[in-house]
Amino acid sequence: MQLLFLGTGGSMGIPVIGCRCLTCKSKSPHDKRLRSSVLLTHEGKRYLVDIGPDYRQQALKYGIDRLDGLLITHTHYDHIAGLDELRIYTFRQRKPVPCLVSRETLAELKVRYHYFIPPHETTKLEFSILEGDVGETVFEGLPVTFFSYRQQGMKVTGFRFKNLAYVTDIKEYEESIFDSLKGVETLVISGWKWEKSHAHLSLKEGMAFARKAKAKMCYFTHISHELKADKRLPKGFALAYDGLEIGL
Ligand SMILES: [Zn+2]
Ligand SMILES: [Zn+2]
Repeated sequence: MQLLFLGTGGSMGIPVIGCRCLTCKSKSPHDKRLRSSVLLTHEGKRYLVDIGPDYRQQALKYGIDRLDGLLITHTHYDHIAGLDELRIYTFRQRKPVPCLVSRETLAELKVRYHYFIPPHETTKLEFSILEGDVGETVFEGLPVTFFSYRQQGMKVTGFRFKNLAYVTDIKEYEESIFDSLKGVETLVISGWKWEKSHAHLSLKEGMAFARKAKAKMCYFTHISHELKADKRLPKGFALAYDGLEIGL
């Protein structure tokens, strides 16, 4: 199993439009961050987690010419704005793109992307629904454990693939989340900036979360321009960057 970070930026990406800060002006490729998304490769199949507004650029850059499934964490713009780009896969693969979502996510998508839903179907998606807040499923050949938490009132789904968990846009959670994370070795978690913010855990809170989950390695994603890529973190923690690939 391989995990490729297609994007590791927060909702505005880096550089931020019009910003002249050190991170946004940085020449380091690691300071260029598209909106957060990862591509998982498992037994020759490719699964995408989230499809933000930069997806077309990401697909071209990493040669994603086919897709076996899409998993969506939640329906904020930076995680779903690229949904229309799936249209090409509907044509190329001559079948709807399988899509794994919570019931709440599907309800939101029906409103925002009403033209995907029959009888319109410009982009054909085949939805598999995750019932409840916690559970396990096999999605198009990929074993998935899922769990839930909240961000500003919206339910967000976290995913676990074997010993790796992808936990983005987490702000409020129940202690029981650690039951779903038992035995996780690699944790990918959103870390917007050092300080607290209204929608994200701070880096410090993210580190405490990772320690509690007993993760051996923790990668931060969904990063704001307040964090420059050369930021030093304690052993076992790193800022992910666009193009980073990890084997599981
Ligand atoms: Zn987000
Ligand atoms: Zn900036």
